[in-house]
Amino acid sequence: MDLGIKGKRALVCASSKGLGRGCAEALAEAGVSLVLNARGAEALKATAEAIRSRYGVEATAVAADITSESGRAEVLAAAGDVDILVTNAGGPPPGLWSDWDRDDFIAALDANMLTPIALMTALMPGMAERGWGRVVNITSQSVKAPIAQLGLSNAARTGLTGYVAGTARQVAPMGVIVNNLLPGIHATDRADALDGGVSKSEGISLEEARARRAATIPARRYGTAEEFGAMCAYLCSQHAGFIVGQNILLDGGGINATL
Ligand code: NAP
Repeated sequence: MDLGIKGKRALVCASSKGLGRGCAEALAEAGVSLVLNARGAEALKATAEAIRSRYGVEATAVAADITSESGRAEVLAAAGDVDILVTNAGGPPPGLWSDWDRDDFIAALDANMLTPIALMTALMPGMAERGWGRVVNITSQSVKAPIAQLGLSNAARTGLTGYVAGTARQVAPMGVIVNNLLPGIHATDRADALDGGVSKSEGISLEEARARRAATIPARRYGTAEEFGAMCAYLCSQHAGFIVGQNILLDGGGINATL
């Protein structure tokens, strides 16, 4: 399928690895030129080079913390007028409800709610002026069903979801289409880190920890960054203009719900 976005420009945040990289690659395959971002310069440079040589599109790398004001300013200056925005950042740390104080919540809200909102606020006016734009926010399955030990993530991402629900309907008349993508368990470094913790605490191998978690998913496997990226690219395509303010779950059937 021709996604109809060849020649567009995208900013994909937190994209040297994992789900962000999956989105960047799928957009590059559709002919979109990219501004990529992550904190670690080396991995980011390698990803940008790989994308340039594989897909023949421009890929500018900006090494910066997207959750800080100065990092965002740097990324936005390099991005200029983009047509497509994919927001992403690392998730907050796990813990127990009684562990977290105000500062922990402020940090989580800054990273996973206020950062994507600031990026949308900065870039959507230009999209609206030009009459075309696409925004995909990478959130989490925790928006549909809470993950108890990720209370900071549950709270911050649900706040973003509420914001998007209203805002998506305000900008749709200007041709700006905003949706959220909700990852369930995907095979990335983050999943490895979580499985590594279980392997240590339960005295089992990493493979065993992975196999146990995969067994809880009806698809009996983890999702891939490529599958995730393909859905992201579709939501950024010409064909997605009637999909407004939706929360699209990619979880292999993990959340047992009718709707
Ligand atoms: P990942 O494999 O660990 O990759 C994270 C990427 O984001 C890396 O490129 C990392 O590079 C970059 N990054 C992290 N913090 C950043 C920051 N503050 N500023 C700029 N770049 C940053 O993680 P992932 O699995 O793709 O997860 C992406 C998001 O989806 C996370 O918010 C995660 O919580 C959420 N999620 C993932 C899963 C899953 O199963 N994988 C499930 C639900 C939700 P640097 O470290 O060099 O900055």
